[in-house]
Amino acid sequence: MRWEGGGDLRSLSRAGLFAVAAGLREPPYRARQLFGWIHRRLATSIEAMTDLPAQMRRTLAARATLAPLAVDATRESSDGTIKYLLRAPDGARLEAVFLPEEDRRTLCVSTQVGCAMGCTFCRTGTMGLSRDLSAGEIVDQVYRVETDLRARGHPGDRETGRVLTNLVFMGMGEPLHNLEALIAALDLLLDPAGLGFSHRHITVSTSGLVPEMAEFARRTRVKLAVSLNAPTDEQRERIMPVDRKYPLARLIAACRDFPTTPGRELTFEYVLLSGVNDADEDAQALASLAGPLGIKVNLIPYNENPGLGFGAPDPTRVQAFHEILVRRGVLAMVRKNRGRDVAAACGQLAAQS
Ligand code: SAH
Ligand code: SF4
Repeated sequence: MRWEGGGDLRSLSRAGLFAVAAGLREPPYRARQLFGWIHRRLATSIEAMTDLPAQMRRTLAARATLAPLAVDATRESSDGTIKYLLRAPDGARLEAVFLPEEDRRTLCVSTQVGCAMGCTFCRTGTMGLSRDLSAGEIVDQVYRVETDLRARGHPGDRETGRVLTNLVFMGMGEPLHNLEALIAALDLLLDPAGLGFSHRHITVSTSGLVPEMAEFARRTRVKLAVSLNAPTDEQRERIMPVDRKYPLARLIAACRDFPTTPGRELTFEYVLLSGVNDADEDAQALASLAGPLGIKVNLIPYNENPGLGFGAPDPTRVQAFHEILVRRGVLAMVRKNRGRDVAAACGQLAAQS
């Protein structure tokens, strides 16, 4: 690999940084230092890398960038959820959501500005796709939030040094529609010389891009969640246009073929929309899909977005739906709605200040 200069250092792989050092006629250990500054010490400028020779820093700063995402605003929910409104150097706005729980501290990250999939119930889906995020922009959401949480006095974990324990790729965008940047970002986040997340603590969510699911399985060990959201094509294609391209028969086959191992499960997500997919017979049909494959189901009561024409089922309906799954022997959970008061819940992200 040769380095031609230019570009964002944070998006480069380990090998890419070795090429940078070679391009500057610096020894390989300089690449390791660079990697540590960017991905472990979470540096926000090249000048800050004080144990690199001044001349190297000057050349690097003239030929490459390390522009961090700016934290434009944060909004804190009464339940402890914090929504981060972030801005890229070109002005693009994106959001990440911190979800503290008793036993874990999760960050929900975005992979695109907007989304091309057009799910009719989703706020992000109504925006269309503005652009993909780069690998550097994906990992920098984690770095900026980790830095902010430390500044707020959150103690890092004794073993890992990190405040954040888990990552979910369930923010804005369809991760598998930006697969190269996603895989590059995951490799950086998993790297033990960086923040060193465990692949068991990262979940990527997809609306069901079938060929990319197989590619994802080949290239990373992190977990996958599939947004099923309806048990028949007739219902699904009405709320998820992607179903016309990859109908349920193909999607279920892809789920069956997904190489799961202990610590690397595939799960279904199912947004409960009142009167659309929350009937008893929908629960039965869902059980028939998930049961034979032994796939766990996460039920997400809809977070209402004004103007999109969908409503949340009432809690007794959610409970009845859940009970049918459990009685059919399907492992199912109802996801808690977090951060609704600051529009930080699933499907409410639109990056507006
Ligand atoms: N694009 C990916 C990941 C982001 S969406 C995907 O669709 O899987 C993450 C989850 O939020 C998906 O399961 C999606 O169906 C769900 N979701 C979208 N809008 C929602 C809303 N308003 N209320 C509850 N869940 C929603
Ligand atoms: Fe995109 Fe996911 Fe929203 Fe569908 S639910 S529009 S795939 S972000």
